[in-house]
Amino acid sequence: MYEKVLSKFNGMIKFTHLLLFSFGSQILYTLAEQLVKSEDNGQELLLCRKCGTDVADSYYLFSHLSPGARKTQKRKLFGKNVTVQTLVNPFGVQFDVITTEKARCNNMGHPQGADSWFPGYSWQICTCPHCGAHLGWTFENTSLGTTDKPVSVKTFHGLILSNILGENCKYFPSYRFPHNDAEYL
Ligand SMILES: [Zn+2]
Repeated sequence: MYEKVLSKFNGMIKFTHLLLFSFGSQILYTLAEQLVKSEDNGQELLLCRKCGTDVADSYYLFSHLSPGARKTQKRKLFGKNVTVQTLVNPFGVQFDVITTEKARCNNMGHPQGADSWFPGYSWQICTCPHCGAHLGWTFENTSLGTTDKPVSVKTFHGLILSNILGENCKYFPSYRFPHNDAEYL
C-alpha cells in the first residue's frame, strides 16, 4: 500500500517535471525565436514621407556606387550603416540617394537611357504606390547578356533620403536627418 502511494507520488513528480520541462522549453524556444528574429530584422521599414505607406525594407539596402556621385558617405540610418550618395541631375538639382534591391515603386514613363547616374542602367521615375509622391528612381540593367562584365543586379532603386522616413523615426513628418553622423568614405 505504502509502495503504491509512493509510486503514484513519484509518477506525479515525474509528470510535474515533464510539464515544467515542456513549459521551460517553450519559453526558451520563444526567447530564442525572438532573438533570431531581432537579429535578422535589425532593420526598419522605410515609409513614404508624405503618406506613411511602407515602400521598402532597410534589409535590402545595399551599396551601388555611381561614378558621377558628387559625394559618398556612410551614415548610421535605419539601424545599419548606409551608403548615401549625393547625385546631381542635368538641371543642377542635387539629391541624397540610398540604393536598395527592392522597393514598392510605381514606375512612371518609359525607361530612359540618357543621363543615367549608373552606366548600363536605364531609369524610370519611382513614385509611391499609395499617394504618387516622387520617391526616387528605378534602374534597370540594359546591358545584361551583351557584355562579358559580371552584372551585380538586374534592377535596383535609388530612393531620395528626404522623401522617405524610417518607421522608428519619432519626429514624423518634419524630422530632418542629422549630418553629424557622417563618416566619409
Ligand atoms: Zn506616399
